[in-house]
Amino acid sequence: MPEFSILKPFSGEVNHGLVLDSSEIPDAIMADQIHGDTILEVNQRPETLPQCDAFITNLKGLPLMVRVADCQGVLIYDPITRSAASVHSGWRGSALNIIGKTIEKMTEVYGSSPADLLVAISPSLGPCCAKFSEPKNELPEFCHPFIRPNNHVDFWALSTKQCLDAGIPENQLELAAECSKCRPGYPSHRNGDSKRMGVFVTLL
Ligand SMILES: [Zn+2]
Repeated sequence: MPEFSILKPFSGEVNHGLVLDSSEIPDAIMADQIHGDTILEVNQRPETLPQCDAFITNLKGLPLMVRVADCQGVLIYDPITRSAASVHSGWRGSALNIIGKTIEKMTEVYGSSPADLLVAISPSLGPCCAKFSEPKNELPEFCHPFIRPNNHVDFWALSTKQCLDAGIPENQLELAAECSKCRPGYPSHRNGDSKRMGVFVTLL
């Protein structure tokens, strides 16, 4: 287990209520999430809802929020260059490796070294519930090692590998490992919920 915890502040009863309703954070920067791999560098507050699935910034006081229900919200923090990212990664995002691409973008834009980054992955669809009809046809080949019996897919393990491949040290990666579908308290698209959970990071 990593020594730090990005996710822990969300586990209190009050904060948990907050993140379940993103309208409670009116200053949050959000996106029209399109399950792609566009990463927006936030230099100022966008005037319209940008179409993207990840944000990076080095500006203080801007909550970068992705909204999820079964998809992974991935938060990245660089304590050295004081920059951060939030990423929406559902199965399409996993297939595009948006996590690896965001880490690469932080390296390009802010000069981040992956060895310095802290990464946290929110509660999301677990291998227990991520059932596909034909995962070998629906997912690219590099995802196939993560197909489990009965056509389930382990996206937690896939994202972990994408982080490690990008150079994140294992002890700087925090995976919530809570399934949003079968554990109580999280909105789940597969359970028919229309609510979304807000996952955000703010530089202070
Ligand atoms: Zn589950």
